[in-house]
Amino acid sequence: MIAALIAAAGQGTRAAGGEIPKQYAPIAGVPMLVRAARVFLDHPRIETLQIVIGPGDGPRFAPVAHELERRASSGSKVRRAVTGASSRQESVRLGLEALGALAPDWVLIHDAARPFVSPDVIDRVIDALSAHPGAIAAEPVTDTLKRATPSGAIAGTFDRRNLWRAQTPQGFHFAVIRAAHRKAAAAGRAFTDDASVAEWAGVRVVLVQGSPRNVKITTAEDIAMASRAFDPEPRETRTGAGFDVHRFGPGDRVMLCGVAVPHTHALEGHSDADVGLHALTDALLGAIGGGDIGEHFPPSDPQWKGAPSAIFLAGAVRRVNERGARIVNVDVTLLCEAPRIAPHRTAMREAIARVLGIQIERVGVKATTTEGLGFIGRHEGIAAMATATVTVPLEPQGAR
Ligand code: MG
Repeated sequence: MIAALIAAAGQGTRAAGGEIPKQYAPIAGVPMLVRAARVFLDHPRIETLQIVIGPGDGPRFAPVAHELERRASSGSKVRRAVTGASSRQESVRLGLEALGALAPDWVLIHDAARPFVSPDVIDRVIDALSAHPGAIAAEPVTDTLKRATPSGAIAGTFDRRNLWRAQTPQGFHFAVIRAAHRKAAAAGRAFTDDASVAEWAGVRVVLVQGSPRNVKITTAEDIAMASRAFDPEPRETRTGAGFDVHRFGPGDRVMLCGVAVPHTHALEGHSDADVGLHALTDALLGAIGGGDIGEHFPPSDPQWKGAPSAIFLAGAVRRVNERGARIVNVDVTLLCEAPRIAPHRTAMREAIARVLGIQIERVGVKATTTEGLGFIGRHEGIAAMATATVTVPLEPQGAR
């Protein structure tokens, strides 16, 4: 029989904001201890799970126990938690004593602060135990290791070959590790992991490949980073629409979506009258609830006389960025009988993509006539409609 023992008696609260021991801190909504325990409960070779909790942690552990027992297939694997002590080593010893009644053949000892242990790491530790009395998951050291003087100067560099970082689980033949722990307790010796206890007792312990994901969660920043990995910043998608019309006047070209298109007329307007970019500017502003083009760039302001409308679009992009929004795609439809848009479509998409800072495939430009109907059909002007889709970060609950 193979048992797992999870050490969850630590009382360190700093990582979890100073309120609860870190193993009860949620990572993306699931307490670290639940995450760690689930991996062992779901592992087909682990037959029983012993959790060691901190003195006084009973009320905190109750919902965890409930959550673990609720996993129907594995509920029967969970043993009643035992209460540990102030040191990790003593807590593990108490857990081993509690498992003694079951007399498992092998035991895998794991820290609750390593919630991302994977089934294959567990398998490698178990596999090694058929040939060795002890085996631990570990990762080779990849950083160069320096020894420092008390003043912070480098006093030497270690050869990192053959150096490993110990992880958990650490697996042992049960009787061997229980005897080693009893011996260490009797001798009053303190060690930082169970392999050290075994080594001190003369037990041969081998290393098996751990996993870089099997990190120990130590600081509040570790918790925040791990949470983001599971649950990136929540965002929602929003859409805005814009519409604009400009009438024809005398001239020989029209500005449409940032491109000067030769024509029998020009469009009239205070700026360069780029009806496509005006509609698009409004669509972007609309998507972030950011007002409209007339509010930000009033036609009464002389500084916009003859201005290239890319300035307005860039202004909307700046507001989008300030809101933390990201542009997903935009789509512009030009409504006119003439000029023909198709020959300029690619240049228009490129011009828009450049101002928006997005790939051209996220920019649509298309055109339609109105079958000769209405003011567009009578060649009195050009209309444009646009939509813009953005994602915006959701405000934390209650921030509104
Ligand atoms: Mg306009």
